[in-house]
Amino acid sequence: MTIKHSLKDLLPEEMETWAQSKGYPSYKGRQMAQWIFQKGEDNPDFMHTLPKTFRELIHAEGNLHLTRLIGDGPNDFSRAFKFLFKLSDGKAVESVYIPSKKRRTVCVSSQVGCPLNCTFCQTARMGFQRNLTPGEIVDQVLHIRHLIPETMTNVVFMGMGEPFLNFDAVIQAARILNHESGLNIGARHITVSTAGIVPQILAFAELPYQFKLAVSLNAIRDDLRQTLMPINRQYPLSALLEAVKFYTRKTHRRVTFEYVMMRNVNISQRDADELVARLGELDCKLNLIPFNMTEAPYERPAEEEIQFFTDYLQQRASFPVMIRWSDGADKQAACGQLYTQIKQKETYDGYPEKIS
Ligand code: SAH
Repeated sequence: MTIKHSLKDLLPEEMETWAQSKGYPSYKGRQMAQWIFQKGEDNPDFMHTLPKTFRELIHAEGNLHLTRLIGDGPNDFSRAFKFLFKLSDGKAVESVYIPSKKRRTVCVSSQVGCPLNCTFCQTARMGFQRNLTPGEIVDQVLHIRHLIPETMTNVVFMGMGEPFLNFDAVIQAARILNHESGLNIGARHITVSTAGIVPQILAFAELPYQFKLAVSLNAIRDDLRQTLMPINRQYPLSALLEAVKFYTRKTHRRVTFEYVMMRNVNISQRDADELVARLGELDCKLNLIPFNMTEAPYERPAEEEIQFFTDYLQQRASFPVMIRWSDGADKQAACGQLYTQIKQKETYDGYPEKIS
């Protein structure tokens, strides 16, 4: 089944061009953008500021029903919640809503599954199924915003998949999320996280947008990193850190390194010393994430080990070091725990049987 284009793949100005190409004034395209992205309206019949003939065109060509929520939304908006969305070809992705004191963040998926095979990550078990379209990425945020009566302040591309292996769609989605006639989320509140695809880090640095970059580091020696993250064979640490340096110099923006703490794997004193030395020359901060349970044979360190590693780094590092307790661990909704398999059904209607 080929994935159809959707009007939700378009920026508001591209919607203006689309309207013009159909013989309508461009401002009708802008109004359509506001209906779709700001009011979250999927049914053209309700877009009452648009002429009937134009609404019929949207019906015929718009393809606005891209994702469908499986199951219920949350009752308690003060806690993290994992959403499962079924796509029009029967595949499914997960997204997470993460509230905190100051922000409400949506963690979006950029691919169905992931090709990178990181040994500790649950999503890797799904294998790679396909890239998401820009509209399918934006739709995750639209749905969650509709279900939760709070303003979404931040978006992180830290769900399923490797965003930089779906670069164009991810950047297009981020631009729509940021656009003032789109979802109007500040560019500095949109973060793209990569396992370290060097050419795309360089390309990201050259873009004229203020989106932020996070890099999943997880080890600071090549031998260890390539056992955890096979992509490190293609882009070893020296190349990765050079690319990050290029990004920070070019954009004057600080990069965030994510580091999943695994017992007896990557939290020795030597690891800490090497982090201090090698990251010291970069404009960065380091987020330490205690490992969340997956089926992979790794363990979360004990509280004292987490604290010791963190304190040791904080006392020596020239950059900020923080522990990120990723919420949602009890619901398999935390970092690295996103995994879903839906029994394939070609029809979009009818609820699928979830097998994991
Ligand atoms: N492929 C991108 C986007 C996914 S982000 C990337 O790697 O950055 C998912 C984050 O969760 C990554 O930082 C990853 O290292 C982390 N992660 C994966 N499995 C985890 C686990 N079991 N516990 C905690 N964090 C995990």
